[in-house]
Amino acid sequence: MRVRRKPNPNRNHPLHCPYCASELLFPDEETEFAWSCQDCLRVFSVQFHGQDDPPVKPEPARSSHEALANSLKRKGHEL
Ligand SMILES: [Zn+2]
Repeated sequence: MRVRRKPNPNRNHPLHCPYCASELLFPDEETEFAWSCQDCLRVFSVQFHGQDDPPVKPEPARSSHEALANSLKRKGHEL
């Protein structure tokens, strides 16, 4: 009996073949990240390596209470 391998959480699913734009893609056994295009018969890999830090980090979001307090303050109300 063949044992099914564990799912690879880092496997991405491409929507189109990068060579011919076909949507007929199936996982391939070449590597853990390989896909096989049924139209052009190419086998390619799609792998997520991580994410760079943004050049400018956004400010952390205000809490609802802080946002309400700022809004009321702008309109001349006191809490
Ligand atoms: Zn293709």
